[in-house]
Amino acid sequence: MTGMKRILLIYPPHARNTEPPLGSGLLAADLKSTGVSVRILDLNAEAAPGLALNMKDNPQPRVHRAFLHIGNVLEQLRSPAIYAQTARYRTAVGHYAGALRSISAGSPWTITPGDFTDTRWPVFNSDTVRAVLNEPEQCPFHDFMTEKIYQVMDGFNPDLTGISVIYRTQFLPGLSLAGILRERHSRSDIVMGGGFFKCLYPDVLRLLKTEGIGAAPDRGEPYLRERLSLPGSEKVVFHDPDYTDIDFSRYFAPGPVVPVTSALGCYWGKCRFCAEKAAFVPDDPDGFKNRLIRLGSAYGPELFHLTDNAIPVNILKLLASWMPPAPWYGFVRMTVELTDFNFVRRLADNGCRMLQVGLESVSKPILSRMEKGVDSDLYPKILDNLIRAGIRIYAYVLFGYPGETDADRTATLKFLADHPVDFLNASIFRFPGRFVTASDPGRPELRKWLSETFYSHPVIRKIAFRTPRYYKSSHAAVLRERRVS
Ligand code: SF4
Repeated sequence: MTGMKRILLIYPPHARNTEPPLGSGLLAADLKSTGVSVRILDLNAEAAPGLALNMKDNPQPRVHRAFLHIGNVLEQLRSPAIYAQTARYRTAVGHYAGALRSISAGSPWTITPGDFTDTRWPVFNSDTVRAVLNEPEQCPFHDFMTEKIYQVMDGFNPDLTGISVIYRTQFLPGLSLAGILRERHSRSDIVMGGGFFKCLYPDVLRLLKTEGIGAAPDRGEPYLRERLSLPGSEKVVFHDPDYTDIDFSRYFAPGPVVPVTSALGCYWGKCRFCAEKAAFVPDDPDGFKNRLIRLGSAYGPELFHLTDNAIPVNILKLLASWMPPAPWYGFVRMTVELTDFNFVRRLADNGCRMLQVGLESVSKPILSRMEKGVDSDLYPKILDNLIRAGIRIYAYVLFGYPGETDADRTATLKFLADHPVDFLNASIFRFPGRFVTASDPGRPELRKWLSETFYSHPVIRKIAFRTPRYYKSSHAAVLRERRVS
């Protein structure tokens, strides 16, 4: 494969369209550092909005209203004003969701602003892969993807096309895209990979290979370098993600949201319910600081999204002592440093807009079974510090962990009712790695408790209402919302 010089990296629909894909930006930077030419094509940014725009009118009042407003709504969601008016924001997202619901009606697939499922392929096994690859036109994004890649392929003529699949919801459209490329642009080598590939069964990966499609279940950088016969790089090098091909105005955000990470993997890495098992490799704080400065001047961000699984403590210390060129948000662990109000206030003063915190449960036996490594006795103090400092709290709780009793569950509910957070995500435990199906296997009793007891509590109901329904943390970080009192 010597001589391959042009690489196209495609991010397929369908995931939240609020910021560019970090993985593609890092991959582009790494490959460019070896002298090859790379382009990024983020199809996700416009695919679902493009479908929504083509919705058909119908007499049902909700559909008709969505039809009347959809063009305007899509522009509003790409401009700053709507994020300062939450009621109008909710109406706009509601019209967009209504448009997607109407184009999904009567078909086997369902698209919402943040999700995509197809009842024809509930399990991602070899039969599914074969069927979608061979009949890519079955995918609702087929026509949009065909047109877009045709425009790029013609001028750029890549030797290799990489398709990144980070979320379950991108897998079927990603396969359809591979099918289109194989059919119409056979000159280009095709590789699929990304975080979701870690969750696929080995026979699926083998089948892709026999179908002539490379599969990179781990980091893309070493895989692509080897496939392209480029000089290898064993060591992880932290590049500035390269977003030069990105048109930030196409995202549903008030301005450029620039994703960046200070590490690979998770510095804790022990939680038993978590699928993150990659080795932890941190960037050094000075290198990270300089990266934020460069990204700040290159893209003029509205916000940095620190995508670390958990921001390491030394990076938090950096951010408590220095103000980056734009505000930021990201995940942290409930560690002892956050019990220090001065530390938390300095984070806020230096631009910390929102912290995502995995509380999971307040039950100590459950936290210990999870190997979460945090002490729920610290929770009240930390949450209180964040509230006093004006940092938004996006909390995650997990119900149904093995061994959880009614009392554990109720204690978590009571804690949240007594310590209201700003935004909340409550999920039901599933064994890690088993999210290869398109539908949830279901836990009827737990679901009943969640709807009849948890979400019926007046405080939880308020928090759930103000949590952006489809765009979750991506919009929680940019909306100007008042705290639940
Ligand atoms: S802290 Fe978060 S990312 Fe790290 S192991 Fe636990 S759940 Fe996973």
